[in-house]
Amino acid sequence: MKKILLFLANFMMFFCIIAFVITCSFLLFGSVVELPEEDIRTFAPAIFFNIFALTTFFVAADTLRRKITVERPVKEIRRVLEKLMKGDFSARISVPYIINRENHFRDIAESINLLAAELGGVETLRTDFIANVSHELKTPLAVMQNYGTMLQKPDISDEERLEYSKAITDTSRRLANLITNILKLNKIENQQIFPSVKKYDLGEQLCESVLMFENVWEQKNIEIETDIEDGVIINSDPELLSLVWNNLISNAVKFTNEGGTVSIGMKSIEDIIVVRVADTGCGIPPEVGSHIFEKFYQGDTSHATQGNGLGLALVKRVVDIMNGEISVESALGKGSTFTVKIRRNWHERLEKNL
Ligand code: ADP
Repeated sequence: MKKILLFLANFMMFFCIIAFVITCSFLLFGSVVELPEEDIRTFAPAIFFNIFALTTFFVAADTLRRKITVERPVKEIRRVLEKLMKGDFSARISVPYIINRENHFRDIAESINLLAAELGGVETLRTDFIANVSHELKTPLAVMQNYGTMLQKPDISDEERLEYSKAITDTSRRLANLITNILKLNKIENQQIFPSVKKYDLGEQLCESVLMFENVWEQKNIEIETDIEDGVIINSDPELLSLVWNNLISNAVKFTNEGGTVSIGMKSIEDIIVVRVADTGCGIPPEVGSHIFEKFYQGDTSHATQGNGLGLALVKRVVDIMNGEISVESALGKGSTFTVKIRRNWHERLEKNL
């Protein structure tokens, strides 16, 4: 109340000064044009009060206008920003509330709402990611603890001892793999990887990737077919791309039964390279196909222990960074074909989409 009175007093003082100045001007003007003194005396107070009333009215109207069109939106924007700062990403500015169109408050409000939605999405991803990681870490740890406890029993046979220690080694390898993949994904997602781009032979890289899984495809008696164009030199980041080929080929070998076939093809069409990894494995049902590039998603649970659902998420992220494309065609029980399209030159990746 005291504040309002003080505010009004200040305003009144301001109007009085304006009215006083204008009245003085009128008096001066009256004496210059030699108006009768009588007239000046009658008109002076009327002029003073008229000017006082008019300025009061217009300033009050303008204050009200500013309150509605400037102060109210600013207050609303501040309210929402404060909520966002406190981590409440569900806060939104009610846009119809902001009626001032000319000074772009509406645009600002819409941008803040978009930002809040984005932050909310990132937060959900982050919490989901932590929940998934903790779950994925806990499971192998529990398995290792279990086998460790069994190993401590004095009356176990040599065979059992071997079996338990092998289980521990396998599980710890899986755990190490998982952590490596999480770190890689995290690095790629944060764009911390500065690509180390160089010219190299893509065909050679693909052959190396195939050979990396030699013991697995030999064990499963899987036939490997290759149709790789010779001498395709690309200018790209070999480490990032090897993640793509290794994951696709290891999946193809993993999801193909004994005696099946895995084919790897590569051809260049001008500056676009097309790589195909096909298998005659179990195939992917349509409802699974729409999720396979999501983090921690595992469609085929019978192979769950051999992976962690991060491989294709990594692949997709790398292909996205390169503005490339990845697609999958699959028939249940018949096999799957993954097709990757990238540009020959890394530096073109940002300028053009395929
Ligand atoms: P992981 O292989 O560790 O389970 P990925 O991210 O590499 O995780 O793959 C996700 C899912 O996609 C797999 O669990 C599987 O269901 C499906 N998938 C991927 N590649 C193939 C393939 N070649 N054949 C059949 N299913 C596949």
